[in-house]
Amino acid sequence: MKTPVHPTLIQRSLGARQKQLQAQGPVLAASLVTVRRTCGKPSCHCAHGHKHVGHYLTWKEQGKTRSAYVPQALLPQVQQWQHEYRRLKRLLAEVSQLSVALVKTHTTHQRRRAGRS
Ligand SMILES: [Zn+2]
Repeated sequence: MKTPVHPTLIQRSLGARQKQLQAQGPVLAASLVTVRRTCGKPSCHCAHGHKHVGHYLTWKEQGKTRSAYVPQALLPQVQQWQHEYRRLKRLLAEVSQLSVALVKTHTTHQRRRAGRS
């Protein structure tokens, strides 16, 4: 994102992003991990190379890695919720960047005003 210089443009950019800063559904800040494993039954297809595929979410909680099983049926939703987290995270970073720009222009304007008198 290119940060605008003029305060009015910064405000406009900020306003547009603030409107998008609303969760469209659940928001998931966790990683999706695919695990391929065998169940141990000699007669099972997994014993011949077609391993069972499972999906897990992993995330950190107070420094500890936690995980949760994701049922296959829920996978598309879980991916959507992760996507939503990334969208909001990116937006929030941009809003912060624009807010910093607003602080900077304020300082510049004050200096200009001071220089005039
Ligand atoms: Zn098996």
